[in-house]
Amino acid sequence: MAALVSGLKECSVDWSQADFFITHMHADHAGLVSTLAGEGAIIYFGRADAEIIRSTATEHWEKQINFARKCGFPEEEIAKAIGSHPGRRYSPNNSLNLCVSKDGDRISADDYLFECIETPGHTEGHICLYEPSKKILICGDHILVDITPNITLASEERNSLKEYLMSLDKVYDLDVELVLPGHRSIFRNHKERIRELKQHHQARLNEIISILGKGRQNVFQIASQMTWDIDYKSWDLFPPAQKWFAFGEAMAHLKYLEEEGKVERQIEGQELVFFAEVSND
Ligand SMILES: [Zn+2]
Repeated sequence: MAALVSGLKECSVDWSQADFFITHMHADHAGLVSTLAGEGAIIYFGRADAEIIRSTATEHWEKQINFARKCGFPEEEIAKAIGSHPGRRYSPNNSLNLCVSKDGDRISADDYLFECIETPGHTEGHICLYEPSKKILICGDHILVDITPNITLASEERNSLKEYLMSLDKVYDLDVELVLPGHRSIFRNHKERIRELKQHHQARLNEIISILGKGRQNVFQIASQMTWDIDYKSWDLFPPAQKWFAFGEAMAHLKYLEEEGKVERQIEGQELVFFAEVSND
């Protein structure tokens, strides 16, 4: 709050009179909006993310907890992962005055005219803002440098990695000179970064196929063997919330591979396991 308020002051923004555009519902992007927004403020939000913000938190988490349980996430660690999850601790309250934005909507601010571009993937309702005459892309967590955006599977019906890769293609051809992301550094060459991100996910998909070469496994076991760029010596030392993110990321990749026909699922008792298709060629 202190950092944000001082940043807004530096830009001479009176936040009590401001409207807010939120790229996506994650707590590190939306958490303070209920504190900052004055009465009558418009808060622009993508449809799917707005629905989650409006839904009861219990409903949203219950669904995910049941799924994690089915995928082998240890019972004693689920409570810890959820308890320390930033989304639980810092999400905005659900009585916000949300205005749903969609592809092609335009939002003007001074001499900027931003175009909304729906970019589902990182979250289902993620939206970027593009200013064509100034060649600026405000991209939230769609494209980041130094780190890769977390692609997780919050709902079994979705193929979030496929959506994400399509959303990368969707912004690839835009004429952009300056990218303003939600984390780390500002950057310029979005095309180069998109190519790197696509290679990263391809490497992840290959890694999972090779892990499944050892035989059928549940999602938690698969996640524990993937390579994570994190300062802990072993999977067992990861804080439960990090295991939760890793697990979601593994699941998003498994869902993608499943729709490609490269892995299959099976229910063994109460447990969901995956195995790789054996190639005959
Ligand atoms: Zn995010």
